Amino acid sequence: MPSLKRILVTGGAGFLGSHLCERLVADGHDVICVDNFFTSQKTNVVHLLDHPNFELVRHDIIHPIWLEVDEIYNLACPAAPGHYQFNPIKTMKTSVMGAINVLGMAKRCRAKVLQASTSEVYGDPEVHPQTEDYRGAVNPIGPRACYDEGKRAAETLFMDYHRHNGVNVRIVRIFNTYGPRMHPFDGRVVSNFIRQALAGEPITLFGDGSQTRSFCYRDDLVDGMIRMMNGPDDFPGPVNIGNPGEFTIRELAEMTLELTGSTSPLIEKPLPVDDPERRRPDISLAASRLDWQPTVALREGLTTTIDWFRSVHLDDFRAPTPNF
Ligand code: NAD
Ligand code: UDP
Repeated sequence: MPSLKRILVTGGAGFLGSHLCERLVADGHDVICVDNFFTSQKTNVVHLLDHPNFELVRHDIIHPIWLEVDEIYNLACPAAPGHYQFNPIKTMKTSVMGAINVLGMAKRCRAKVLQASTSEVYGDPEVHPQTEDYRGAVNPIGPRACYDEGKRAAETLFMDYHRHNGVNVRIVRIFNTYGPRMHPFDGRVVSNFIRQALAGEPITLFGDGSQTRSFCYRDDLVDGMIRMMNGPDDFPGPVNIGNPGEFTIRELAEMTLELTGSTSPLIEKPLPVDDPERRRPDISLAASRLDWQPTVALREGLTTTIDWFRSVHLDDFRAPTPNF
């Protein structure tokens, strides 16, 4: 395969997708970004529009699309709980029909295709830290199921296209990732806490804040995805990509207060249904097969993210488009 590749990024205008597009364009590839802007906006990729190697297509991935490409990164899917629960049926359609459409394209074009899966496939895990062979504890009928089960079904489709049709697939299970360009109103914990701290508003701890998450900086994550795409053909995954540094949500709140210099009070709110109690990736597989490990500590990445939040105008961001 030539070193310059034609690469499709679905969900390419989103938080992770826009950074991935930047990286791929900078590496000299011909990049097509497909997005319906459900949870993102054109401003995320506006700086790439004049680049001859970048093309932006407004399209909903639940519908087939005919393109000729060498590689596909399938990121199209709302990712924040508030976003994916906004229209849960659409979330499931995006995961499942989106997977079928990109897999069909990969089969026709003999392209490699990578699925952005999630640590949510482990649900509220009984195994800690989570290894890839752990099958998870997902509530199939709860409010998070549209996302968790949609992503699980997508993994099934990827492996079946791989086994039955010989499609060259890759599955990465992404753990909580944060950084500049995350949607300030996505309701995720990092964006909520930074926004609240900078505005001097109360920091909303859901539950008592003792639940844990492991936070990966955006650049580390995108590097892991690219390594997986370029990794060995006998390694479809799934592989965990995340930062094993584990923090309680209360610790995250306290670090955010310290780094912003804010005196916002911490207040407790009800814990959402099925909120996982703890989450930490075992990344030994990524380390051994991809020679990958994260390099950005939470304190460092949070500082950069806070700087970005200070630099943007919140009025420029809107909530997800209704009626999707
Ligand atoms: P994001 O919401 O910023 O990006 C998703 C993008 O997909 C948006 O641009 C959105 O408009 C687009 N999209 C949604 N539905 C679509 C559809 N039907 N057709 C076309 N485009 C559509 O979220 P993100 O954090 O950048 O997540 C990107 C991917 O990574 C998602 O698949 C998500 O599930 C996965 N992921 C992210 C995290 C994380 O912590 N950020 C963790 C696990 C998995
Ligand atoms: N959370 C919180 N306050 C907020 C937003 C989230 O305490 O304002 C908690 C949430 O209950 C969860 C954790 O932070 O335990 C991570 O939430 P997020 O929505 O970012 O991601 P996910 O639950 O999908 O990991």
